[in-house]
Amino acid sequence: MTNLVDTTPTDILKKHFGYDSFRHQQKEIIHHILEGRDALVLMPTGGGKSLCYQVPALIFEGVTIVISPLIALMKDQVDALRLNGISAAYLNSSLSQQEQAEVMRLLRDNRLKLLYLAPERLVSGDKGFINFLKDQAKLSMIAIDEAHCISQWGHDFRPEYTQLATLKSVFPEVPVVALTATADKLTQDDILQQLKLHNPKKFVSSFNRENIYYFVSPKRRSYDQLLQFLNKHKDDTGIIYTLSRASAESLAEQLIADGYDARPYHAGLDRDVRDKHQDLFIKDQIKIITATIAFGMGIDKSNVRFVVHMDLPKNIEGYYQETGRAGRDGLKSEALLFYSYADVKKLKSFVEVEGNTQQSEIMLKKLNEMAEYGELRTCRRKYLLNYFDEEAADECGSCDVCLSEEEKFDGTVIAQKVLSAVTRLEERFGTGYVIDFLRGSKSAKIWDKHKSLKTYGVGADIGKEEWNHYIKDLIHLNYLAKDDGKYPVLKLTHKSKNVLQGKEQVQLFMIKQIEEPVISVQTI
Ligand code: ADP
Ligand code: ZN
Repeated sequence: MTNLVDTTPTDILKKHFGYDSFRHQQKEIIHHILEGRDALVLMPTGGGKSLCYQVPALIFEGVTIVISPLIALMKDQVDALRLNGISAAYLNSSLSQQEQAEVMRLLRDNRLKLLYLAPERLVSGDKGFINFLKDQAKLSMIAIDEAHCISQWGHDFRPEYTQLATLKSVFPEVPVVALTATADKLTQDDILQQLKLHNPKKFVSSFNRENIYYFVSPKRRSYDQLLQFLNKHKDDTGIIYTLSRASAESLAEQLIADGYDARPYHAGLDRDVRDKHQDLFIKDQIKIITATIAFGMGIDKSNVRFVVHMDLPKNIEGYYQETGRAGRDGLKSEALLFYSYADVKKLKSFVEVEGNTQQSEIMLKKLNEMAEYGELRTCRRKYLLNYFDEEAADECGSCDVCLSEEEKFDGTVIAQKVLSAVTRLEERFGTGYVIDFLRGSKSAKIWDKHKSLKTYGVGADIGKEEWNHYIKDLIHLNYLAKDDGKYPVLKLTHKSKNVLQGKEQVQLFMIKQIEEPVISVQTI
């Protein structure tokens, strides 16, 4: 058992970090770890994940290792800790042999409280370093930062992370805390399973970023649309994400030609060019960075006022993390997505060729959820928060849907029709079937089995497309649920009963005419 030094977390917080009180669930997390137990911590970027392991590290006897993929940031993190009088070090490929030997000596003498490591360092081939830790160091805790990197279902899988699974078997007594700012339910379960955490507790902080306003625009002539947007943000700093490296570059060129101070960033650029552009951006010497998703992890820039996505991201996890780079300073910021169904189709074709079948299925599911966000007629913030298993009010007042003057109407009767149809059909059918049933379809399947049920045909006055919209809206408003099986069926929720009993009114959105897409005609 690890001995505890005689100080409280609050003492440490004041003494070493100069803060008076803990934020979010930091206190609970720290107490949980101090009991020697495993944990999964989900906290938004900037929420204060580091203190969750740094404080216990200082209380435990021995050294805490922190696994992080962000080699470039390790030095800064360690320097900051040292400035606070904490004995910390890092090991990565940037150190000389001599410097590495010095760190090993400190470890052997038990003179380090925190050691930052890249995952490959810990698990490289010969197990040399793990054995060293086991035999010659006094390990008190293991913190795994960016833990979603272990999951293939996440959006930033790193193969070297998978080997971290061995840690728990080599060090069964050492508490492990996994931390991430981006993991949906599926990824969370995968992290727990792969790291083989013992009886872990999950700490989920609110992911809501109140100061970020969410907007989606139908993608037509996206460059013109972008210029319009930038015109309103002349003095602001922002990130513009594109799907391909080529478009990151051409977009920067176009913007420069139009008088904007922009530079591209993607993994195909030479390291020094990339670093230079990032540096210019961080130091406010340029206003705009046009980038692929390679940009942004670990970047702590407080005054990003907007994040634009020119193309559809592959999943909500990535999207939410990218938009989360806006507004770290708490001031009002905007996230704008240009959405088109053409992008969905394009990404679908990529998914089909990538990976194995199970993986493709999951990627496809996540892509569909992203597409749904683009087509949403209900509050976008609610959808995003619900996606991460967090409850949210029906309207946020700060997304395009909530802000639009879109007309609503009393849709209680419509809702009652669907909900009773779902009840009569015993929650065993999907949207298509329920709509056919409501519309009184004469198709053999329905006619034979269900024509005598009450509510059969009560929705014949409403078209299929409209029903589709209403049902989606009802799902997003949590009056209905769609389960996750292979053939998703509609289910009732805790909110359904009140509507069926006439105790609750349902507000639905009018369905507007879809605008014709602008087709550019080339004259010869
Ligand atoms: P994350 O790793 O979750 O992105 P950090 O751990 O880097 O976030 O913390 C973000 C910022 O918030 C840091 O500057 C940190 O010092 C500060 N911070 C964290 N916890 C507290 C606290 N309890 N009180 C005041 N500031 C805090
Ligand atoms: Zn909203």
